[in-house]
Amino acid sequence: ALADVPLAITGLTKRYAKSSDRYAVRDLSFTVERGQVLGLLGPNGAGKTTTLRMLMGLITPDEGGIRVFGHAIRPGAPVLSRVGAFVEGAGFLPHLSGRENLELYWQATGRPAEDSHIAEALEIAGLGDALARAVRTYSQGMRQRLAIAQAMLGLPDLLILDEPTNGLDPPQIREMRDVMIRYAAGGRTVIVSSHLLSEVEQSCTHLVVMDRGRLVQAGPVAEITGGSDTLLVTTDGE
Ligand code: ATP
Repeated sequence: ALADVPLAITGLTKRYAKSSDRYAVRDLSFTVERGQVLGLLGPNGAGKTTTLRMLMGLITPDEGGIRVFGHAIRPGAPVLSRVGAFVEGAGFLPHLSGRENLELYWQATGRPAEDSHIAEALEIAGLGDALARAVRTYSQGMRQRLAIAQAMLGLPDLLILDEPTNGLDPPQIREMRDVMIRYAAGGRTVIVSSHLLSEVEQSCTHLVVMDRGRLVQAGPVAEITGGSDTLLVTTDGE
């Protein structure tokens, strides 16, 4: 049933300037099933962030539909409480510990403290003893994982991560991969964007490849990476 499908989008289309013929996202359709880690892959400007912001109900598509667990997405839709999101630049109070920052955030959301959920989210984030340390002592990778932990606090059924590996070194990227795999292992669903195939091929079960707003390829990761010479995803430069 549709209520079991974390995400189904059809014909999603967005232009930032109505007069323009530049489409940030054009006629995008795909479905994400429970337990999948879906990589949204494409070069800069492909439309990944625009797509994710529409999924989060932050911007409204010009055309097309988004169903999250069967419910239509619009700003403030109740089903958004089942969606957790990481976007770049989450701010933390540097002199407070990681744990204190998360507690403050959780109180601010006004949602009841479900201690077992929080404990599980922190376990998955793998920050360990670092949670007791002031955030100002954190590396970039640890801050990024704290931000992911924040997005995971309520154990949302659908976790959306916009370029969580940006600025991370290879060991930190591997840790991020393990966090996503552990999260989805609980029957939850993850959507993660990246502009590097090498970053997502190990962590994702499925890929949607975008270029200039359009879907180029979609399917299980092995089908897409296996001997494909049509997949020309970007350079490592940036
Ligand atoms: P990146 O990896 O650089 O974040 P992306 O795949 O996430 O790229 P988007 O940020 O969704 O791509 O951008 C898609 C297109 O929409 C680009 O051409 C971009 O310039 C344009 N765009 C994005 N945000 C806006 C905005 N707020 N106003 C106008 N145009 C925008």
